[in-house]
Amino acid sequence: MSEQPTHVRPDGRRVVVAGAVESRGRLLSARRSRPASLAGGWELPGGKVEPGEDPAAALVRELREELGIDVDVVGQVPGPLDGDWPLDEASVLRVMRCRIERGEPAAGIAHDDVRWLAPGSLADVAWLEPDVAPVAAAADRLGTWVSFPAGEVSGEGRVLRADPLGDGRWAVVVDRTPFHPLDHSWPDQPGDTGSLAGLAVVDSLTGAVDDEGSLLLGDAVGVRRGDPSRTWVVVHVVDSPERPDLVGDVVGLEVDAVRRAEYSRGHSACHLAALALNEASAGFWSKEPPRRDSRGFPFLDQIAIQVSRIEPDGAYDAYRCGRSLRKAGFDSAGFLAALDEVTGQAHALLDSWVASGAASRLDTAGDPTLPARRSWICDVPGGPAVIPCGGTHVRELSALGQVRVSYATTTDGFEQRTTVVPPS
Ligand SMILES: [Zn+2]
Repeated sequence: MSEQPTHVRPDGRRVVVAGAVESRGRLLSARRSRPASLAGGWELPGGKVEPGEDPAAALVRELREELGIDVDVVGQVPGPLDGDWPLDEASVLRVMRCRIERGEPAAGIAHDDVRWLAPGSLADVAWLEPDVAPVAAAADRLGTWVSFPAGEVSGEGRVLRADPLGDGRWAVVVDRTPFHPLDHSWPDQPGDTGSLAGLAVVDSLTGAVDDEGSLLLGDAVGVRRGDPSRTWVVVHVVDSPERPDLVGDVVGLEVDAVRRAEYSRGHSACHLAALALNEASAGFWSKEPPRRDSRGFPFLDQIAIQVSRIEPDGAYDAYRCGRSLRKAGFDSAGFLAALDEVTGQAHALLDSWVASGAASRLDTAGDPTLPARRSWICDVPGGPAVIPCGGTHVRELSALGQVRVSYATTTDGFEQRTTVVPPS
Protein backbone atom coordinates (compact mmCIF):
# COMPACT_ATOMS: atom_id res chain seq x y z
CA MET A 1 0.00 0.00 0.00
CA SER A 2 1.42 3.35 -0.94
CA GLU A 3 0.75 6.57 0.90
CA GLN A 4 -1.15 9.40 -0.75
CA PRO A 5 1.50 11.68 -2.30
CA THR A 6 1.70 15.23 -0.97
CA HIS A 7 2.16 16.98 -4.31
CA VAL A 8 -0.88 15.47 -6.07
CA ARG A 9 -4.45 15.39 -4.80
CA PRO A 10 -6.59 12.21 -4.80
CA ASP A 11 -8.33 13.64 -7.91
CA GLY A 12 -4.97 13.72 -9.68
CA ARG A 13 -4.51 17.47 -9.72
CA ARG A 14 -1.10 18.88 -8.85
CA VAL A 15 -0.85 21.06 -5.73
CA VAL A 16 0.61 24.53 -6.15
CA VAL A 17 1.10 26.43 -2.89
CA ALA A 18 0.74 30.18 -2.51
CA GLY A 19 1.35 32.41 0.48
CA ALA A 20 -1.11 34.98 1.82
CA VAL A 21 1.80 36.70 3.53
CA GLU A 22 0.60 39.21 6.08
CA SER A 23 2.55 41.85 7.96
CA ARG A 24 1.06 44.69 10.00
CA GLY A 25 -2.34 44.16 8.42
CA ARG A 26 -1.00 44.27 4.87
CA LEU A 27 -0.99 41.55 2.21
CA LEU A 28 2.08 40.81 0.08
CA SER A 29 1.71 40.78 -3.70
CA ALA A 30 4.42 39.92 -6.23
CA ARG A 31 4.59 40.61 -9.98
CA ARG A 32 5.55 37.71 -12.24
CA SER A 33 8.46 38.26 -14.58
CA ARG A 34 8.04 34.91 -16.34
CA PRO A 35 6.82 32.99 -18.26
CA ALA A 36 5.80 35.48 -20.93
CA SER A 37 2.14 34.46 -20.67
CA LEU A 38 2.04 35.49 -16.99
CA ALA A 39 4.66 38.27 -16.95
CA GLY A 40 3.31 41.53 -15.54
CA GLY A 41 0.52 39.85 -13.62
CA TRP A 42 0.41 40.02 -9.81
CA GLU A 43 0.04 36.93 -7.62
CA LEU A 44 0.27 35.52 -4.14
CA PRO A 45 3.83 34.14 -4.34
CA GLY A 46 4.53 30.42 -4.10
CA GLY A 47 5.22 27.44 -6.32
CA LYS A 48 4.85 23.73 -6.95
CA VAL A 49 5.04 21.14 -4.21
CA GLU A 50 7.79 18.62 -5.01
CA PRO A 51 7.13 14.86 -4.72
CA GLY A 52 7.36 13.82 -1.07
CA GLU A 53 7.43 17.42 0.13
CA ASP A 54 5.07 18.75 2.78
CA PRO A 55 3.00 21.58 1.23
CA ALA A 56 3.75 24.02 4.06
CA ALA A 57 7.46 23.21 3.82
CA ALA A 58 7.27 23.73 0.06
CA LEU A 59 5.82 27.19 0.59
CA VAL A 60 8.50 28.11 3.12
CA ARG A 61 11.15 26.95 0.61
CA GLU A 62 9.61 28.81 -2.34
CA LEU A 63 9.29 32.09 -0.45
CA ARG A 64 12.87 31.85 0.75
CA GLU A 65 14.13 31.11 -2.78
CA GLU A 66 11.97 33.65 -4.59
CA LEU A 67 11.68 36.58 -2.20
CA GLY A 68 14.38 36.04 0.45
CA ILE A 69 11.98 35.81 3.39
CA ASP A 70 11.52 33.20 6.11
CA VAL A 71 7.88 32.67 6.97
CA ASP A 72 5.81 30.85 9.53
CA VAL A 73 2.75 29.14 8.05
CA VAL A 74 -0.08 29.95 10.49
CA GLY A 75 -3.21 28.75 8.70
CA GLN A 76 -5.07 28.34 5.46
CA VAL A 77 -7.32 30.49 3.31
CA PRO A 78 -9.88 27.78 2.55
CA GLY A 79 -11.16 27.54 -1.02
CA PRO A 80 -14.11 25.75 -2.62
CA LEU A 81 -12.27 22.61 -3.85
CA ASP A 82 -11.82 20.66 -0.59
CA GLY A 83 -10.03 23.72 0.75
CA ASP A 84 -8.12 24.49 -2.45
CA TRP A 85 -8.72 27.06 -5.20
CA PRO A 86 -9.08 26.35 -8.92
CA LEU A 87 -5.91 27.06 -10.94
CA ASP A 88 -6.15 25.10 -14.21
CA GLU A 89 -7.29 21.68 -15.47
CA ALA A 90 -4.21 19.96 -14.07
CA SER A 91 -3.59 21.81 -10.81
CA VAL A 92 -5.06 23.61 -7.82
CA LEU A 93 -3.87 26.49 -5.66
CA ARG A 94 -3.53 25.87 -1.93
CA VAL A 95 -3.37 29.24 -0.19
CA MET A 96 -1.76 29.41 3.23
CA ARG A 97 -1.62 32.29 5.66
CA CYS A 98 1.95 33.24 6.56
CA ARG A 99 3.75 35.57 8.93
CA ILE A 100 7.24 36.86 8.15
CA GLU A 101 9.84 35.55 10.58
CA ARG A 102 12.89 37.13 8.96
CA GLY A 103 13.74 39.33 6.01
CA GLU A 104 12.10 41.92 3.80
CA PRO A 105 10.60 40.59 0.57
CA ALA A 106 12.60 41.57 -2.51
CA ALA A 107 12.12 40.88 -6.20
CA GLY A 108 14.19 37.98 -7.51
CA ILE A 109 14.15 35.79 -10.60
CA ALA A 110 10.46 34.83 -10.69
CA HIS A 111 9.22 38.32 -9.75
CA ASP A 112 10.31 41.80 -10.75
CA ASP A 113 8.32 43.77 -8.14
CA VAL A 114 6.71 43.24 -4.74
CA ARG A 115 4.16 45.39 -2.98
CA TRP A 116 2.38 45.48 0.39
CA LEU A 117 -1.33 46.14 0.01
CA ALA A 118 -3.57 47.60 2.71
CA PRO A 119 -7.29 46.83 3.13
CA GLY A 120 -9.15 48.81 0.49
CA SER A 121 -6.13 48.98 -1.83
CA LEU A 122 -6.06 45.36 -2.95
CA ALA A 123 -7.41 46.31 -6.37
CA ASP A 124 -4.39 48.58 -6.93
CA VAL A 125 -2.56 45.79 -8.78
CA ALA A 126 -3.67 43.60 -11.70
CA TRP A 127 -4.01 40.15 -10.14
CA LEU A 128 -3.68 37.06 -12.27
CA GLU A 129 -7.17 35.64 -12.73
CA PRO A 130 -6.81 32.53 -10.49
CA ASP A 131 -5.60 34.76 -7.62
CA VAL A 132 -8.58 37.14 -7.60
CA ALA A 133 -10.92 35.00 -5.46
CA PRO A 134 -8.30 33.82 -2.92
CA VAL A 135 -6.99 37.39 -2.58
CA ALA A 136 -10.49 38.60 -1.72
CA ALA A 137 -10.78 35.84 0.90
CA ALA A 138 -7.30 36.59 2.24
CA ALA A 139 -8.14 40.29 2.47
CA ASP A 140 -10.96 39.48 4.88
CA ARG A 141 -8.34 37.82 7.07
CA LEU A 142 -6.05 40.85 7.42
CA GLY A 143 -7.78 41.91 10.62
CA THR A 144 -9.26 45.26 11.51
CA TRP A 145 -7.12 48.38 11.26
CA VAL A 146 -7.77 50.61 14.25
CA SER A 147 -7.48 54.40 14.48
CA PHE A 148 -8.38 54.84 18.18
CA PRO A 149 -4.67 54.90 19.16
CA ALA A 150 -4.42 58.23 17.30
CA GLY A 151 -7.51 59.48 19.15
CA GLU A 152 -9.89 59.18 16.17
CA VAL A 153 -13.61 59.01 16.90
CA SER A 154 -15.00 58.79 13.37
CA GLY A 155 -14.11 57.10 10.10
CA GLU A 156 -15.19 54.79 7.30
CA GLY A 157 -14.78 51.06 6.89
CA ARG A 158 -15.86 48.28 4.55
CA VAL A 159 -18.17 45.74 6.17
CA LEU A 160 -16.63 42.24 6.07
CA ARG A 161 -19.28 40.24 7.93
CA ALA A 162 -22.35 40.45 10.16
CA ASP A 163 -22.89 37.47 12.48
CA PRO A 164 -25.97 36.93 14.65
CA LEU A 165 -25.50 37.32 18.40
CA GLY A 166 -29.14 36.65 19.31
CA ASP A 167 -31.69 39.02 20.87
CA GLY A 168 -31.66 41.28 17.81
CA ARG A 169 -27.95 41.94 18.07
CA TRP A 170 -25.32 41.51 15.36
CA ALA A 171 -21.56 41.31 15.36
CA VAL A 172 -20.49 43.61 12.54
CA VAL A 173 -16.83 43.52 11.44
CA VAL A 174 -15.27 46.17 9.22
CA ASP A 175 -11.77 46.49 7.77
CA ARG A 176 -11.05 49.82 9.50
CA THR A 177 -12.61 51.41 12.55
CA PRO A 178 -12.13 54.17 15.12
CA PHE A 179 -13.90 52.02 17.78
CA HIS A 180 -11.89 50.86 20.77
CA PRO A 181 -12.97 47.30 21.69
CA LEU A 182 -12.87 45.62 25.07
CA ASP A 183 -9.75 43.44 25.28
CA HIS A 184 -10.79 39.88 26.19
CA SER A 185 -7.47 39.11 27.90
CA TRP A 186 -7.10 42.34 29.96
CA PRO A 187 -10.64 43.83 30.07
CA ASP A 188 -9.76 47.09 31.85
CA GLN A 189 -11.42 49.62 29.52
CA PRO A 190 -14.96 48.99 28.21
CA GLY A 191 -15.58 49.05 24.46
CA ASP A 192 -16.72 52.20 22.69
CA THR A 193 -20.36 52.81 21.79
CA GLY A 194 -21.70 54.91 18.93
CA SER A 195 -23.14 54.22 15.50
CA LEU A 196 -22.36 52.27 12.32
CA ALA A 197 -24.22 53.16 9.13
CA GLY A 198 -26.70 54.94 11.39
CA LEU A 199 -27.36 51.80 13.49
CA ALA A 200 -26.69 51.95 17.23
CA VAL A 201 -23.45 50.28 18.31
CA VAL A 202 -24.11 49.29 21.93
CA ASP A 203 -20.69 47.74 22.62
CA SER A 204 -17.46 46.82 20.88
CA LEU A 205 -15.43 43.70 21.55
CA THR A 206 -12.25 41.98 20.50
CA GLY A 207 -13.07 39.10 18.14
CA ALA A 208 -10.95 36.34 16.63
CA VAL A 209 -11.59 34.56 13.33
CA ASP A 210 -10.32 30.98 13.16
CA ASP A 211 -9.21 29.00 10.11
CA GLU A 212 -12.74 27.76 9.49
CA GLY A 213 -13.84 31.38 9.28
CA SER A 214 -15.82 31.26 12.55
CA LEU A 215 -15.99 34.43 14.60
CA LEU A 216 -15.05 33.76 18.23
CA LEU A 217 -15.82 36.06 21.14
CA GLY A 218 -15.03 36.17 24.86
CA ASP A 219 -13.91 32.89 26.43
CA ALA A 220 -14.36 31.11 23.09
CA VAL A 221 -11.34 32.99 21.70
CA GLY A 222 -9.20 30.56 23.70
CA VAL A 223 -5.86 32.25 22.97
CA ARG A 224 -4.27 35.52 23.96
CA ARG A 225 -4.76 38.65 21.90
CA GLY A 226 -2.38 38.65 18.94
CA ASP A 227 -1.96 34.87 18.65
CA PRO A 228 -1.03 34.41 14.96
CA SER A 229 -3.37 31.43 14.51
CA ARG A 230 -6.31 33.84 14.59
CA THR A 231 -7.32 36.96 12.69
CA TRP A 232 -8.01 39.79 15.16
CA VAL A 233 -11.01 41.99 14.51
CA VAL A 234 -13.07 44.68 16.18
CA VAL A 235 -16.66 43.50 16.66
CA HIS A 236 -19.28 46.23 16.65
CA VAL A 237 -22.34 44.98 18.55
CA VAL A 238 -25.20 46.45 16.53
CA ASP A 239 -28.87 46.59 17.51
CA SER A 240 -31.04 45.66 14.55
CA PRO A 241 -34.20 43.53 14.33
CA GLU A 242 -32.97 42.07 11.04
CA ARG A 243 -29.51 41.15 9.73
CA PRO A 244 -27.94 44.43 8.61
CA ASP A 245 -27.61 44.11 4.82
CA LEU A 246 -24.23 45.82 4.73
CA VAL A 247 -21.56 43.24 3.78
CA GLY A 248 -19.29 44.79 1.14
CA ASP A 249 -20.56 48.32 1.80
CA VAL A 250 -18.35 51.17 2.94
CA VAL A 251 -20.07 52.60 6.01
CA GLY A 252 -19.62 55.56 8.31
CA LEU A 253 -18.55 54.90 11.91
CA GLU A 254 -19.10 57.37 14.74
CA VAL A 255 -17.90 56.83 18.28
CA ASP A 256 -19.80 58.45 21.18
CA ALA A 257 -17.10 61.10 21.65
CA VAL A 258 -18.29 62.35 25.04
CA ARG A 259 -18.21 58.86 26.55
CA ARG A 260 -14.85 58.15 24.88
CA ALA A 261 -13.39 61.34 26.39
CA GLU A 262 -14.57 60.29 29.86
CA TYR A 263 -12.80 56.93 29.54
CA SER A 264 -9.71 58.52 27.99
CA ARG A 265 -9.40 60.82 31.00
CA GLY A 266 -10.01 57.89 33.35
CA HIS A 267 -7.38 55.77 31.59
CA SER A 268 -4.74 58.51 31.49
CA ALA A 269 -5.33 59.31 35.15
CA CYS A 270 -5.03 55.61 35.97
CA HIS A 271 -1.52 55.58 34.44
CA LEU A 272 -0.50 58.73 36.31
CA ALA A 273 -1.83 57.27 39.55
CA ALA A 274 0.24 54.13 38.93
CA LEU A 275 3.40 56.19 38.42
CA ALA A 276 2.64 58.28 41.50
CA LEU A 277 2.10 55.10 43.51
CA ASN A 278 5.43 53.70 42.30
CA GLU A 279 7.30 56.87 43.31
CA ALA A 280 5.48 57.39 46.61
CA SER A 281 6.09 53.77 47.69
CA ALA A 282 9.74 53.61 46.57
CA GLY A 283 11.05 54.07 50.12
CA PHE A 284 9.40 50.86 51.30
CA TRP A 285 11.62 48.54 49.25
CA SER A 286 14.66 47.02 50.98
CA LYS A 287 15.93 45.09 47.96
CA GLU A 288 16.23 45.62 44.24
CA PRO A 289 12.61 45.21 43.04
CA PRO A 290 11.65 42.65 40.38
CA ARG A 291 10.79 45.51 38.00
CA ARG A 292 11.25 49.25 37.68
CA ASP A 293 9.08 51.66 35.72
CA SER A 294 10.36 53.83 32.86
CA ARG A 295 11.14 56.60 35.36
CA GLY A 296 13.35 54.31 37.42
CA PHE A 297 11.03 53.67 40.38
CA PRO A 298 10.12 50.18 41.68
CA PHE A 299 7.06 49.14 39.66
CA LEU A 300 4.75 48.35 42.60
CA ASP A 301 1.70 48.95 40.37
CA GLN A 302 2.65 46.18 37.93
CA ILE A 303 4.13 43.82 40.52
CA ALA A 304 1.10 43.81 42.86
CA ILE A 305 -1.88 44.59 40.56
CA GLN A 306 -4.83 42.19 40.72
CA VAL A 307 -7.69 44.14 39.14
CA SER A 308 -7.75 47.29 37.05
CA ARG A 309 -10.98 48.88 35.91
CA ILE A 310 -11.14 52.07 33.90
CA GLU A 311 -14.25 54.13 34.62
CA PRO A 312 -15.64 57.40 33.26
CA ASP A 313 -13.31 60.03 34.73
CA GLY A 314 -11.75 57.55 37.07
CA ALA A 315 -10.32 54.14 37.75
CA TYR A 316 -10.31 51.39 40.34
CA ASP A 317 -7.24 49.27 41.04
CA ALA A 318 -6.80 46.50 43.57
CA TYR A 319 -3.38 45.35 44.75
CA ARG A 320 -2.29 42.28 46.65
CA CYS A 321 0.36 42.53 49.35
CA GLY A 322 1.12 38.89 49.94
CA ARG A 323 4.10 36.84 51.01
CA SER A 324 5.81 37.01 47.63
CA LEU A 325 5.77 40.82 47.75
CA ARG A 326 7.30 40.76 51.24
CA LYS A 327 9.93 38.27 50.09
CA ALA A 328 10.75 40.56 47.20
CA GLY A 329 11.66 43.19 49.77
CA PHE A 330 8.53 45.32 50.06
CA ASP A 331 7.55 46.48 53.58
CA SER A 332 3.80 46.05 53.12
CA ALA A 333 2.97 46.69 56.78
CA GLY A 334 4.97 49.90 56.82
CA PHE A 335 3.43 51.02 53.55
CA LEU A 336 -0.16 50.30 54.63
CA ALA A 337 0.46 52.20 57.88
CA ALA A 338 1.63 55.23 55.91
CA LEU A 339 -1.19 55.55 53.36
CA ASP A 340 -1.90 59.15 54.43
CA GLU A 341 1.65 60.29 53.65
CA VAL A 342 1.62 58.24 50.45
CA THR A 343 -1.58 60.02 49.40
CA GLY A 344 -0.07 63.43 50.09
CA GLN A 345 3.03 62.64 48.07
CA ALA A 346 0.95 61.18 45.23
CA HIS A 347 -1.19 64.32 45.07
CA ALA A 348 1.87 66.57 44.90
CA LEU A 349 3.21 64.50 42.00
CA LEU A 350 -0.16 64.35 40.20
CA ASP A 351 -0.63 68.12 40.54
CA SER A 352 2.82 68.85 39.10
CA TRP A 353 2.31 66.45 36.20
CA VAL A 354 -1.10 67.80 35.25
CA ALA A 355 0.22 71.37 35.60
CA SER A 356 3.05 70.53 33.18
CA GLY A 357 0.46 69.97 30.46
CA ALA A 358 2.70 67.24 29.05
CA ALA A 359 1.66 65.61 25.77
CA SER A 360 0.28 62.10 26.01
CA ARG A 361 0.10 59.66 23.13
CA LEU A 362 -0.11 56.00 22.22
CA ASP A 363 2.85 54.71 20.19
CA THR A 364 2.00 51.89 17.77
CA ALA A 365 5.42 51.52 16.09
CA GLY A 366 3.59 51.92 12.78
CA ASP A 367 1.40 48.86 13.23
CA PRO A 368 -2.28 49.73 12.57
CA THR A 369 -3.69 46.33 13.51
CA LEU A 370 -5.62 45.50 16.66
CA PRO A 371 -3.00 43.21 18.27
CA ALA A 372 -0.12 45.68 17.72
CA ARG A 373 2.14 46.26 20.70
CA ARG A 374 1.27 49.74 21.89
CA SER A 375 2.79 51.95 24.56
CA TRP A 376 1.42 55.01 26.28
CA ILE A 377 4.11 57.68 26.28
CA CYS A 378 3.93 60.85 28.32
CA ASP A 379 6.77 63.29 28.97
CA VAL A 380 6.04 63.99 32.61
CA PRO A 381 8.67 66.02 34.50
CA GLY A 382 11.36 63.81 36.02
CA GLY A 383 11.47 61.23 33.24
CA PRO A 384 9.16 59.98 30.52
CA ALA A 385 6.32 57.62 31.33
CA VAL A 386 6.20 54.57 29.06
CA ILE A 387 3.56 51.98 29.87
CA PRO A 388 2.38 49.12 27.62
CA CYS A 389 -1.29 49.84 26.99
CA GLY A 390 -4.11 49.26 24.53
CA GLY A 391 -6.59 51.86 25.73
CA THR A 392 -7.48 55.44 24.83
CA HIS A 393 -6.00 58.56 26.38
CA VAL A 394 -6.08 62.34 26.49
CA ARG A 395 -3.76 64.22 24.12
CA GLU A 396 -2.37 66.41 26.89
CA LEU A 397 -2.48 66.19 30.64
CA SER A 398 -4.09 69.63 31.00
CA ALA A 399 -7.30 67.92 29.82
CA LEU A 400 -7.37 66.16 33.20
CA GLY A 401 -7.96 69.28 35.30
CA GLN A 402 -7.23 67.63 38.62
CA VAL A 403 -6.48 64.01 39.53
CA ARG A 404 -7.10 62.67 43.03
CA VAL A 405 -6.36 59.25 44.51
CA SER A 406 -7.56 57.55 47.65
CA TYR A 407 -6.27 54.33 49.16
CA ALA A 408 -7.90 51.85 51.48
CA THR A 409 -6.66 48.60 52.93
CA THR A 410 -8.39 45.38 51.87
CA THR A 411 -8.26 41.85 53.26
CA ASP A 412 -5.18 40.99 51.22
CA GLY A 413 -3.69 44.35 50.30
CA PHE A 414 -5.08 47.69 49.31
CA GLU A 415 -7.19 49.43 46.69
CA GLN A 416 -6.73 52.69 44.88
CA ARG A 417 -9.54 54.87 43.58
CA THR A 418 -8.60 57.48 41.05
CA THR A 419 -10.86 60.41 40.24
CA VAL A 420 -10.59 63.06 37.56
CA VAL A 421 -12.10 66.50 38.08
CA PRO A 422 -12.04 67.75 34.50
CA PRO A 423 -11.56 71.47 33.84
CA SER A 424 -14.92 73.22 33.63
ZN1 LIG B 1 -3.34 53.29 28.80
